[in-house]
Amino acid sequence: MELKITDLNKTYPNGVQALKDVNLEVPLGMFGLLGPNGAGKSTLMRTIATLQEADSGQILLGDINVLYDKEKVRKLLGYLPQEFGLYPKVTAEDLLNHIATLKGITSKSERKELVDALLQKVNLHSHRKKNLGTFSGGMKQRFGIAQALIGNPKLIIVDEPTAGLDPTERNRFHNLLSEIGENTIVILSTHIVEDVSHLCSNMAIINQGQVVLKGIPTEIVGSMTDKIFKKTISKEEIDDYRSEYQVISSDLFAGNTVIHIYSETDPGNGFSSVAPDLEDVYFKTILGERSETQLI
Ligand code: ADP
Repeated sequence: MELKITDLNKTYPNGVQALKDVNLEVPLGMFGLLGPNGAGKSTLMRTIATLQEADSGQILLGDINVLYDKEKVRKLLGYLPQEFGLYPKVTAEDLLNHIATLKGITSKSERKELVDALLQKVNLHSHRKKNLGTFSGGMKQRFGIAQALIGNPKLIIVDEPTAGLDPTERNRFHNLLSEIGENTIVILSTHIVEDVSHLCSNMAIINQGQVVLKGIPTEIVGSMTDKIFKKTISKEEIDDYRSEYQVISSDLFAGNTVIHIYSETDPGNGFSSVAPDLEDVYFKTILGERSETQLI
């Protein structure tokens, strides 16, 4: 099964055009949708999740017309929204059991078996009797995945799942997602480049409502080989470098500033070539021809 988005457009009543002619093919596996805040990721996720209307365009999940056959899509969908409200005084086990009932699993024993298996899967079984209000951010996100998995979805959408998680929690969440991605379409929407470089076999970058780059991360990164150069400079020099080169990132390192620039040819002047990574690609793409680093 594949998800295919064609010429999707959405303008909000206040005039903000959140999606502009979006075209994407999303195959089985983990798909990363990367973009800065305000790029249109949530709008796209909510539209695919049938929670919001588009103005024009088409979305097909296999042969299901997503924008019209909403009920069919909902039966195949697991959704972990950006804002995930939990009932703080309900236990993990009880809430999963309740959601399973809502999703039509009527047999009590079947529900118990499913809830137990899901809690094991997301590593929350020993916390099943605890109220959700006592959960850490990472535990809440893993609970969110457990509820999204009820009903064996064919399409799972996770919107900004790792924002606010500490490195250990993020790592655990990554492992969980990549397990799920083996036989499901998983769309991971994020502004964190590392989430995509660690996990996704396909990706797209969206900026100001438009898909500005799409493909296989390793190929995309490979296309920038021999075009990224770095140099350590002092902080005061950065403006000069920005006016002369296409600076795509600047990082403080041991009191100095390390800049990465994009250049089709060897710039000389003390720059050395570095192997590109997805972060270089991302900032080059988002910043376009401007050499600004306010997004970093
Ligand atoms: P992202 O998820 O990438 O941060 P969003 O889809 O939330 O992006 O937002 C895309 C753009 O649409 C932003 O400019 C945002 O302010 C605007 N927007 C989002 N939701 C609404 C809404 N309900 N009404 C008006 N504008 C909105």
